Amino acid sequence: MAETAAREAELLAKVPTGLLINGEWRDASDGGTFEVADPATGKVLATLASATSEDALAALDAADKVQASWARTAPRERAEILRRGFELVTERAEDFALLMTMEMGKPLAESRGEVVYGAEFLRWFSEEAVRDYGRYLTTPEGKNKILVTRKPVGPCLLITPWNFPLAMATRKVGPAIAAGCTMVLKPAKLTPLTSQYFAQTMIEAGLPAGVLNVVSSKSASGISGPLMQDSRLRKVSFTGSTPVGKQLLKDAANNVLRTSMELGGNAPFIVFEDADLDKAVEGAMAAKMRNMGEACTAANRFLVQASVAEEFTTKFANAMKALKTGRGTEADTTVGPLIDGGARDDVHALVTAAVEAGASVSTGGAPVDGDGYFYQPTVLANVPNDADILRSEIFGPVAPVTTFETEEQAIALANASEYGLASYIYSRDVNRMFRVSEQIEFGLVGYNAGVISNAAAPFGGVKQSGMGREGGAEGLDEYTTVQYIGIADPYAK
Ligand code: NAD
Repeated sequence: MAETAAREAELLAKVPTGLLINGEWRDASDGGTFEVADPATGKVLATLASATSEDALAALDAADKVQASWARTAPRERAEILRRGFELVTERAEDFALLMTMEMGKPLAESRGEVVYGAEFLRWFSEEAVRDYGRYLTTPEGKNKILVTRKPVGPCLLITPWNFPLAMATRKVGPAIAAGCTMVLKPAKLTPLTSQYFAQTMIEAGLPAGVLNVVSSKSASGISGPLMQDSRLRKVSFTGSTPVGKQLLKDAANNVLRTSMELGGNAPFIVFEDADLDKAVEGAMAAKMRNMGEACTAANRFLVQASVAEEFTTKFANAMKALKTGRGTEADTTVGPLIDGGARDDVHALVTAAVEAGASVSTGGAPVDGDGYFYQPTVLANVPNDADILRSEIFGPVAPVTTFETEEQAIALANASEYGLASYIYSRDVNRMFRVSEQIEFGLVGYNAGVISNAAAPFGGVKQSGMGREGGAEGLDEYTTVQYIGIADPYAK
């Protein structure tokens, strides 16, 4: 116990607590601070400088001043900084994992998984940085030439959520560095420690002063507001909830900013009667319980063909019963706390309303007594199709199961949502996978797979889940702008 506390204190001492502006960590202009707490215990972990509007503008100033010189650096130079960043994050994997568990609550094994996933964006974009192709062609009538090049979009504002403290930052910072953009990062106030430590790591990897600035703050709109009104800013990339994303899209209209929006989800997990049910339960556990259900990709509605619903639900509930809630640092913990008391109350309100509407509790169904914001892993059966829990993003360890008879019904139920981020299909019939994928309105489809996030794949949603893609070759496009140079016929006399 004393050893764990000493290790945690030693790690916290490595995390910068200031604002990163022009390569230096400094206090907020008004001396303001805010606290970051451990959701498993409620204990305060650190006190950070809280950026003001003035600090945000100083950060943009720094980003703007180096934008032109940074854009001219050799792609190989940017690639190698990213590669060193990947290596340093990997060397410090245990630090990053423990820090995420401390501020966000997920079990250490999951935090370690996020370090691998998050670091991979640095490696992937170090490889993409030197492959930012343009094209050269002759106009169709055969005279003039078309030259298409890509340039960095310019200074970016990157706003990240609390649920994946490392990966949400690297998924934006990686491609921005690769493309030659400078940036101001505003992490979520609930889990900023990982971003602070990550930014310090990137400086050690050789990132020049001013390219990455970090303005953690207790007031999110106090940062985004003035920055988005400033014409030096050229892009906002946001990951978070749909209501905040909509507000930022309105704000972005003022200066017609480029936007990337990774917003909320309401993922259907569709199990057909021809599926391997044991594999489907395994996938359901991963798709539901990763991050305690606090993921935009979390399976939110289990649509199960009626003929196999009872068997699936029983197996699923048994797997959920075998989980153990606890502080993420404890070796046998498989489910950590929710991020705060409000989040836990919201989850419980959805469960209570579903039960009142006729759902039955197969397992769980209540908060866990004691310190921290724990909720029992829960499976609800026979959930009526119009229940609120099927329409809302649950963001907790609760799995509502509902049934369908035909493939057409499954597709209609899946599409009955304003969201369109992740979806999952379990079936042994690959033709069915193609048919259903074509008809469901989702940016991501997991086929017999419960976790599909990967740095090499384009991640993003349709409908109110957002626009733009992160990861893959598409991830770099988001940070570049196209320039076309029309060249007069070189043979003309
Ligand atoms: P949130 O929208 O409350 O906050 C996200 C970020 O926006 C934070 O940094 C927050 O400080 C900032 N913010 C909040 N209000 C703001 C405002 N008025 N102006 C400017 N910035 C503001 O979301 P959250 O609770 O941190 O994260 C959970 C949400 O994020 C869920 O809806 C989840 O689905 C979504 N999410 C989406 C993806 C994706 O890739 N699509 C990934 C992870 C999380």
